[in-house]
Amino acid sequence: MIILAIESSCDETAAAVVENGRTVRSSVVASQIEEHRRFGGVVPEIASRMHTEAIVPVTAQALEQAGITLKEVDAVAVTYAPGLIGALLVGVNFAKGLCIAENKPLVPVHHIKGHIAANYIAHPELKPPFLCLVASGGHSHIIMVEDYTRFRVIGRTRDDAAGEAFDKAARAMGFPYPGGVFIDKAAAQGNPKAYPLPRPKVADSEFDLSFSGLKTAVINQLHNAQQKGEEINTNDMAASFQSAVVETLTSRLMTAAAQNQSTAVVVAGGVAANSGLRTALTEACDKHRLTLYMPPLSLCGDNAAMIGAQGYYEYLAGNTADLTLNARASMAVDE
Ligand code: ATP
Ligand code: MG
Ligand code: FE
Repeated sequence: MIILAIESSCDETAAAVVENGRTVRSSVVASQIEEHRRFGGVVPEIASRMHTEAIVPVTAQALEQAGITLKEVDAVAVTYAPGLIGALLVGVNFAKGLCIAENKPLVPVHHIKGHIAANYIAHPELKPPFLCLVASGGHSHIIMVEDYTRFRVIGRTRDDAAGEAFDKAARAMGFPYPGGVFIDKAAAQGNPKAYPLPRPKVADSEFDLSFSGLKTAVINQLHNAQQKGEEINTNDMAASFQSAVVETLTSRLMTAAAQNQSTAVVVAGGVAANSGLRTALTEACDKHRLTLYMPPLSLCGDNAAMIGAQGYYEYLAGNTADLTLNARASMAVDE
């Protein structure tokens, strides 16, 4: 079964052709990051307009690279939630148009379920059930993936997502947006013990996460140093911050794996690209005899191939939509 997938939930316009949920025939991603960088974050209005400009050429390119026409596609999958509403609507309406024109089934896909499904592409042997850490720009979840379309949230962030904390801490350190990757690079040259930072805990929950206090601790240390005229070593601060995030995510995930008798652990989302997190999880999973699955760097951030992968399983489960489908800015994975 061949799915044409479309993703426009944030600042990447993406289209992909995916076969049977596992084989990527083409994947095109047009990033708007350069446009948003000068504002220090994604500007929703600009994002919508840029999606409108990019969606036709990006989709045409995906079909061309796959060597097929729209007529040969069996279904169109599209991200419909969660994300920037105006950005999502561009993809949803475009996908509806394609489905009307060629009389194809329309498959709505939840963006975070797509991030998880990136792992089906990278690891052909991977099947639910498994425990998954989702760490992205807007979400930090520990999820039991019970089946391809059945999810149970075990823990979630109470405030900032991991990626959001990376980006806000990076901004305070003077890095461009989005700063996660700059912290990653700087941290590789720094001492993670140089600056004492809290390891965030949530009092009444073993698995919920919280990153805003950690982010504030970084901002306060930078501010205090500046007031006293002291130099901050940015590499050391990046390493100290990153290790606090990585230790928190890793320890929560290992406890969740033990409690849920999980033997497989999966990581998903933009922060899955973080080299410190990848190393720490590799070591921890080795120690606890867990099989670790991570997407390649190319599938960690937003792309449409992952939407095509999840779209396939949604289609098999009968989760198609009619033309009344609407986009939604927020939607839980277990809703
Ligand atoms: P969501 O998926 O929650 O809707 P999003 O789509 O904006 O949000 P993603 O594209 O999944 O988020 O991930 C982007 C996030 O990943 C950004 O916060 C970015 O800084 C972070 N990120 C990317 N690479 C790295 C890295 N190497 N280290 C740390 N963070 C990273
Ligand atoms: Mg993005
Ligand atoms: Fe994302």
